[in-house]
Amino acid sequence: TFNRMLDRIEDLVTSIREMSDNIAHDLKSPLTRIRGFAELALVQNSSLQEYEAMAANTIEETDRLLDMINTMLVISKAEAGEGEFDFKPFDLSHMVKGACELFIPVAEDRQIQFEYDVQDNLTVYGDERMLQRAFSNLLDNALKYTPRSGRVRVSAEKTFDDGLGVKVFDTGCGIDPFHFEKIFERFYRADSSRASQGTGLGLSLARTIARQHQGEILVKSTPGKGSEFTLTLPHRNLEII
Ligand code: ADP
Repeated sequence: TFNRMLDRIEDLVTSIREMSDNIAHDLKSPLTRIRGFAELALVQNSSLQEYEAMAANTIEETDRLLDMINTMLVISKAEAGEGEFDFKPFDLSHMVKGACELFIPVAEDRQIQFEYDVQDNLTVYGDERMLQRAFSNLLDNALKYTPRSGRVRVSAEKTFDDGLGVKVFDTGCGIDPFHFEKIFERFYRADSSRASQGTGLGLSLARTIARQHQGEILVKSTPGKGSEFTLTLPHRNLEII
């Protein structure tokens, strides 16, 4: 028992170290770029237009940093049970359809075939804004990690046990099972995705939000074929009004 406990502590220490390495890396890149813009502005005689572009880039990078920090705070607060969640009954069908409509132009732009099939009148008790954030992260990932002429499909329906499942399926790059648990850790990004934009916080936030609703985010995936992420909400969280 003692050895098992030591192994567990060692695993935890290693995962904390990995997480802080990832945080350091992800904070360092935008800061380096911001410093680069400031240095350019200082040493180079540029036109007004160029200065404006540098200022705009600096704002964009700073917003990215602020967004990362805010997301980290939402996750830590929720995990500590201090999250500011506003639970109310609301129409999840409407929320999912609305979010899908927002992503249609992104899918068209990337020439991805995108369809959604959402059961009507799925009324749940939860924080609409937070659940929308969780769902949007899943959809954003599906579109981000699926190449041109791929397919993304969303469905939302009651499950056999009277709970609820919102599924986001894609025919993208897929994920090696080795990464299945790790991708839910803060700042973790599977190697295949380092080339694309992202913070490594989306799934961590989505799972934290799901768990605040006594739900879960589940993953099924085959490398090279695609993935399916499911947001489940349990029976007791679903109130049909
Ligand atoms: P981000 O997308 O910003 O890197 P996430 O926390 O949303 O961060 O996802 C963590 C990692 O999980 C991603 O970096 C990627 O490796 C993997 N991943 C998430 N969704 C998908 C998907 N639909 N297809 C393939 N890989 C995915």
